[in-house]
Amino acid sequence: MTVVGAHGERRSGIAAARGIFAGPDDPAYAEAARSSDLAATTLRPAAAATARTAAEVRQAIAEAVRSGRPLLVLSTGHSAGMIAPVAEDAYALRVALDEPVTVDPARGLVRIPAGARWADVVEVTSAVGLAVPHASSPSVGAVGYLLGGGLSPYGRLFGVAANNVVSATVALADGSVRTVDSEHDPDLFWALRGGGGGLGVVLAVELLAVPATGVMTGMTVWDADAAGAGVARAWWEWTRTAPREATTSLRLLDLPDLPGVPEPMVGRQVLALDGAVLPYGNDVDRARSVARRMLEPLRRLAEPILDTWRLDGLTATTTTRVDPRGRGRTVTDAFLLREGGHDMIDRWVESAGPASGSELVVAELRQLGGAFADDPVFAGAFGAVAEPLAAFNAGSASSPAATDASRGDLLRIRGDLRRWITNRTVPTMIDDPGIPRRTFGLETEAYVENVRRDVDPRGLFRLDVRDPKGL
Ligand SMILES: Cc1cc2nc3c(=O)[nH]c(=O)nc-3n(C[C@H](O)[C@H](O)[C@H](O)COP(=O)(O)OP(=O)(O)OC[C@H]3O[C@@H](n4cnc5c(N)ncnc54)[C@H](O)[C@@H]3O)c2cc1C
Repeated sequence: MTVVGAHGERRSGIAAARGIFAGPDDPAYAEAARSSDLAATTLRPAAAATARTAAEVRQAIAEAVRSGRPLLVLSTGHSAGMIAPVAEDAYALRVALDEPVTVDPARGLVRIPAGARWADVVEVTSAVGLAVPHASSPSVGAVGYLLGGGLSPYGRLFGVAANNVVSATVALADGSVRTVDSEHDPDLFWALRGGGGGLGVVLAVELLAVPATGVMTGMTVWDADAAGAGVARAWWEWTRTAPREATTSLRLLDLPDLPGVPEPMVGRQVLALDGAVLPYGNDVDRARSVARRMLEPLRRLAEPILDTWRLDGLTATTTTRVDPRGRGRTVTDAFLLREGGHDMIDRWVESAGPASGSELVVAELRQLGGAFADDPVFAGAFGAVAEPLAAFNAGSASSPAATDASRGDLLRIRGDLRRWITNRTVPTMIDDPGIPRRTFGLETEAYVENVRRDVDPRGLFRLDVRDPKGL
């Protein structure tokens, strides 16, 4: 049986007769180059198009080749901050295919067309009792996230999300379309899964899903002053032996009064613990008890001001957390932290917490470990993440003064934590081209580069390469 989602409504295509790319004066340009990231930037490519079909993608490739310009690919534009600085000379192609998300429950596989957001995917998979390693927000584009590796709120069970991709259909620079998997073009298949992009235009991916009918998910929030360092320390202790079905984040948040921000969290710094416990083998009682064992000691340390953990349907995990990313102009920083003791967590609280004077909207520690650290033989180029924590910090960029203050806070926190910062970063966490970043060791980098040279010898997609050398 194949179940079909509602993503595939028909929208007007761009007339082929005048070429698929529109110039800056054309309304189709604004639609295609639109950035959903208020953060940074407006994309200003030389010309832009939206492709609704695979044929339109191939047409765009052919026209970009004829023009001699590089071709930038995007789906939602969430990563506009990374794309904008290189966009000016390029043609930009937004891929939003008029195809539905489909799921084959018997095989535990979901087919995701380019342009689908996680909300589209989870709506379809949850309806048939399957869970996928989606992002923490429903608005994130599934393909862009998977190409960058992908850290899911179920990630300690699934591992790096890209490793769950079982095939990808991709339009290449020579106009051909290939479906690649572990047996057909295995090198290209490997490189697509976290290899840093710039390989072609992905039309669809097939992703593994696991049976699950519900999830323990939610957010416990404390006033940051009241929580002190005790809650953060106790959480950190818990992470060290936490079972794999639990994946959490600890965040210091200071949010303005925006739609969707719960009233108790507005206008003060809070400490929030959110995440999910995905019942392994549908053992709901065990999931409840995992969540209880995590939360009860923390709730005893300080009285929460908000506590939403509950057993819910699978779509709940995409909306459970209040995510400041994409909700306003921000400047960001991201890094991975190696194993540390209480001194590391205390330093994080001192540096970003109430006593620090930080004006950041978020300072986040994402729990890794579990399957994130496994490097399965079938893994893609991104492989695994050995570090136990991913940090993501963001501050307001609503005015030049706010931007300066935020940049100051970001630098200070980076400096305070430098003892624990490793030299590897996760591509999907990097929103700003100024952030020091490195995904691979030299050998993997050379291998990806070889694959890229094979499929795109003239560098049509060169501006999509997300992990430039030398950083
Ligand atoms: C609110 C929010 C929450 C997030 N949560 C998480 C999270 O939980 N875990 C996590 O790992 N990341 C998370 N992210 C980061 C997110 O995964 C990245 O921003 C990702 O790049 C978004 O992909 P996109 O397709 O939406 O963005 P886009 O800006 O459209 O695309 C990003 C890049 O992907 C490539 N790309 C996109 N589509 C295609 C295609 N069809 N073919 C070829 N290349 C393509 C291009 O190189 C493009 O530059 C979050 C981001 C936001 C804004």
